[in-house]
Amino acid sequence: MNSAKRYLQAAQMVYIACHIIPDGDAIGSLLGLGLGLRRLGKSCTMACADPVPAKFNFLTGWQEITAQPPKNEEVIVTIDSSDIERLGSLYDEHIFRSRPIINIDHHVTNTRFGTVNLVQLLPSTAEIVYALLRRLQAPLDKDIATALLVGLVTDTQCFRTSNVTAKQLRMAIALMKAGASLTDITELVFNREPISTICLWGQALAHVQRRGRVMWTEIDQHMMRKCGAAPNEGNSLVSFLASTMGVDVAIVFREKDDGRIEVSMRAGHGWDVSEVALKLGGGGHPRAAGCTIAGKMAKVRELVLGEIEAALQKQAMAREEQNAEGG
Ligand code: 5GP
Ligand code: MN
Repeated sequence: MNSAKRYLQAAQMVYIACHIIPDGDAIGSLLGLGLGLRRLGKSCTMACADPVPAKFNFLTGWQEITAQPPKNEEVIVTIDSSDIERLGSLYDEHIFRSRPIINIDHHVTNTRFGTVNLVQLLPSTAEIVYALLRRLQAPLDKDIATALLVGLVTDTQCFRTSNVTAKQLRMAIALMKAGASLTDITELVFNREPISTICLWGQALAHVQRRGRVMWTEIDQHMMRKCGAAPNEGNSLVSFLASTMGVDVAIVFREKDDGRIEVSMRAGHGWDVSEVALKLGGGGHPRAAGCTIAGKMAKVRELVLGEIEAALQKQAMAREEQNAEGG
């Protein structure tokens, strides 16, 4: 935290980048940090390789988010990205090698690629940004507080994930006191699904399959086109599948427009899908992880299902051994 603070205090121009196919924590943390540093007199470029999802277009500053790689900024900050490839087309090896990188993230699979790695296993990256801004004594205004609360609320699914403690609720109170409206955020972020998302859910739910304790569905380009869905639409479906009784792991396989398959996974209490995601070139958290794999749908599905089944068996055995030792 202190070295991140020193780098940021010394810089005049800062480049901040979040990951591809951005979610609420990526966009909220990006804007929160960018607006906060501006209040301290810095010039900030805020960047994301993919467009900002429409549901976040109430946040101040969203239109300024650019898809350009860094130019002459002195410091690069990466947000919510467990590895540097998550920056997509913003990542230019030559530029990134020539200046300090502050890696701000909360994923257990983070590869520690930064000059400074501000990686903490908290429910959201927004919390790390919040702590950093406080350390920098940046003023907390309504816009910054709203952006950070969007990050916190989206990554905790409205404070419902198992990693939520009183700490997150205390931060929410502070942000609300600074002017953020939890009512507006939940309304604008969770109660505004486009009809194309409902269409996609319909298609995907009609094709749900189950093998033992694993449930999955597949979304192909045909469904995406038929529903007129954007690349990141319907990504909360996987959490819904994971809420099924008797299901320990839920997976949504989605064919991307480049033909690769995006794999989104959720695990029930006591299970871990992050190791499989990491092994397959992705990353994430124990209970929410993902990866993107080249290949045909059926082949990718069998590969992932095989790895998941093996991982679940290993985890069940480890637990049994632990229980035997304990008992
Ligand atoms: P989601 O399933 O919501 O897309 O992602 C769940 C978690 O896994 C997120 O924290 C996200 O950052 C991570 N994740 C998803 N896809 C990838 C991927 O292709 N690579 C990496 N490194 N992480 C991913
Ligand atoms: Mn996050």
